[in-house]
Amino acid sequence: MTRTTPWHERSVVVTGGTRGIGRGIAELLARHGASVLLTGRDAATAGEVAEELARSTGGRVAGIGADLRDPDAAEVMAAEAERRHGHVDVLCANAGIFPEKPLREMTAADIDEVLAVNLRGSMLAVRACLPAMERAGRGRVVLTSSITGPATGYAGWSHYGASKAGQLGFLRGAALELAPLGITVNAVLPGNVRTEGLEGLGAEYLRTMAASIPLGRLGESADIAHAVAFLASDEAAFITGQTLTVDGGQTLPESLDAFTARA
Ligand code: NAP
Repeated sequence: MTRTTPWHERSVVVTGGTRGIGRGIAELLARHGASVLLTGRDAATAGEVAEELARSTGGRVAGIGADLRDPDAAEVMAAEAERRHGHVDVLCANAGIFPEKPLREMTAADIDEVLAVNLRGSMLAVRACLPAMERAGRGRVVLTSSITGPATGYAGWSHYGASKAGQLGFLRGAALELAPLGITVNAVLPGNVRTEGLEGLGAEYLRTMAASIPLGRLGESADIAHAVAFLASDEAAFITGQTLTVDGGQTLPESLDAFTARA
């Protein structure tokens, strides 16, 4: 049996930790005792959120600005985590955007923006944290992908679906490349989770989505954070290149019976 590392010895980076799912991940891992560095585009916002989480969890949480559209930002983020914590054990590559855009109106700039944040941004974040994980001789990478793209499609979000499916192609190659270094690479696939980003899509969207989830409610950020915490744990040491869907059963139904049974 290999020795397990207690959470209070762990250094965690969460991209897009200023709100929503990322904030939920940062909060849970800080509660477990990890030292957490969270990021968002704006340094002041990230600092304020980190202070709030440090207060509410009694944990060690810091926040920095790192706009992942900028290739250098990921390097700055990884260096800052190593400077503050001495090492980097866990990267939660979570930052993402989901603007709606019908295909016939979609421009090259729209596609570039979504791919730059969701796909290239998460790849650059992983690459930037690698040297620190390599020095530590271990590491956990957990990507926040989505059911949209890997498992389902949604009209108006084809570029988003491409970015989220692309993350899984990256994950499989990276998992193989990093296995000899003791670094695992996995992903969570959230269904519809009540976050600031999702609420921006409107009350009607939220209502229809909740109605299409067999467990009868939207997900909460904590639902995703618990799955991330497992994949980031020592107990998940033998799992790599895999995905964990956390969607309340949304991708399961073959017929409307799943919903009439509930009514
Ligand atoms: P959210 O509430 O909109 O939060 C997005 C986070 O990403 C914020 O912290 C934001 O920080 C950060 N971010 C956005 N652009 C960034 C950039 N260029 N550089 C760095 N950080 C950036 O979204 P969410 O709903 O929590 O979603 C989080 C992740 O889960 C995304 O990858 C999303 O695709 C995925 N997901 C969400 C759902 C859902 O139902 N909510 C479902 C499936 C997958 P600032 O605004 O402070 O920059």
